[in-house]
Amino acid sequence: TQHLLARAQQHQHLGAFLAFNEAASLAQAKAADARVAAGERTPLLGVPLAHKDIFVTRDFPTTAGSKMLEGYRSPFDATVVSKLAQQGAVTLGKLNCDEFAMGGSNENSAYGPARNPWDPSRVPGGSSGGSAVAVAARLAPAVTGTDTGGSIRQPASFCGVTGIKPTYGRCSRYGMVAFASSLDQAGPMARSAADCATLLTAMAGPDIDRDSTSLDRPAEDYGRLLGQPREGASAAQPLKGLRIGLPREFFGDGVAADVLTPVRAALAEYEKLGATLVEVSLPRTELAIPVYYIIAPAEASSNLSRFDGVKFGHRAAQYNDLVDMYKRSRTEAFGPEVQRRIMIGTYVLSHGYYDAYYLKAQQIRRLIAQDFQQAFTQCDLIAGPAAPTVAWALGEKADDPVANYLADIFTLPGSLAGLPGMSLPAGFGAGGMPVGLQLMGNYLKEAELLQAAHALQ
Ligand code: GLN
Repeated sequence: TQHLLARAQQHQHLGAFLAFNEAASLAQAKAADARVAAGERTPLLGVPLAHKDIFVTRDFPTTAGSKMLEGYRSPFDATVVSKLAQQGAVTLGKLNCDEFAMGGSNENSAYGPARNPWDPSRVPGGSSGGSAVAVAARLAPAVTGTDTGGSIRQPASFCGVTGIKPTYGRCSRYGMVAFASSLDQAGPMARSAADCATLLTAMAGPDIDRDSTSLDRPAEDYGRLLGQPREGASAAQPLKGLRIGLPREFFGDGVAADVLTPVRAALAEYEKLGATLVEVSLPRTELAIPVYYIIAPAEASSNLSRFDGVKFGHRAAQYNDLVDMYKRSRTEAFGPEVQRRIMIGTYVLSHGYYDAYYLKAQQIRRLIAQDFQQAFTQCDLIAGPAAPTVAWALGEKADDPVANYLADIFTLPGSLAGLPGMSLPAGFGAGGMPVGLQLMGNYLKEAELLQAAHALQ
């Protein structure tokens, strides 16, 4: 813990961390030492981790990357945080992210961007950018992130680390600052699928009393299939019988050649391990962008109404009346992307537009989920790129929201369907930048995803 806290100080230029509390971290480490001394041997005991600053924490401030929550201190820990703490994990600090997890480059953080350790002139991806940077730069062995439309998978891809977003509802959302509640899901990011499995085993599980959308199913050991050959397969070809579906729409014109090359090389490795590649189709892939950018802002506009300068967050110093106080407080403390999404969200939910936008988006969301079920009749897992390009230069897309939205094309479909998905390092593209292979599974197939990822590592 001491070593990593010092290392984080030496790497402040990467912008990975937003907050530390050295005394709290060291106290947690001491408590873990005592448990070790008492003979306890559990995988996360004494392991230093860091949390995306979207999880509320009692011992550290929580900002969600926003000026709105500057100086906010939660009276409780998020369920994911407390579950990891119960296992003896130590918290090093809180990690940078796009404001309220809205973004895919970390440039929407009110506290400055995080930088990609492979090339600090480039973005690390987002919104869990600080999380990916911390793992890639060896500031923490493993971290938490959240993924609403790709925020674990895309930064994992951009920074060359492994991350998994489980099935919607598998991790409790209690204590996660809400962005789009029907999509938000927590997950781990780490150096390997095996480490992700260890974290996810500790993070996941029912929490019905606190998050009614958490799945009422017992916790699982997500590492149970790691290194095991599939049923009926041999050690030489451990994935024999595994059908990996390649959606035609994920390998078309929209993907950069330097991304496709390492992705195809990783798929060739899977063939050597015994898997068969089959072409499938997710015909509504393109529609995932407009559908997501209606549903997510709609939910965000409702979730963010709590930041009114009264119950939570920043309050303007001067105002004339109550409405003026709301207006000024929200105008001052929300960044431009958050304001844009609140406006889109309130618009698509307003009387007269609801049927044309929100309702239509919900209907197409259902069709996108059905497309996956159709594909899963032909394959066990789905694979493709996590993002259409490698990490871009800081500032390159900063003034172009639509360019940012389009970069989410390969992660949004799985999010809308609530399916588990992960990104693992596939190789390198232009400029020596990392490229991630995305694997998606059917509902609750996390152990199978991690098994397949581990086989390549
Ligand atoms: N990039 C997407 C967005 O801006 C996804 C973000 C996320 O998953 N939190 O909404």
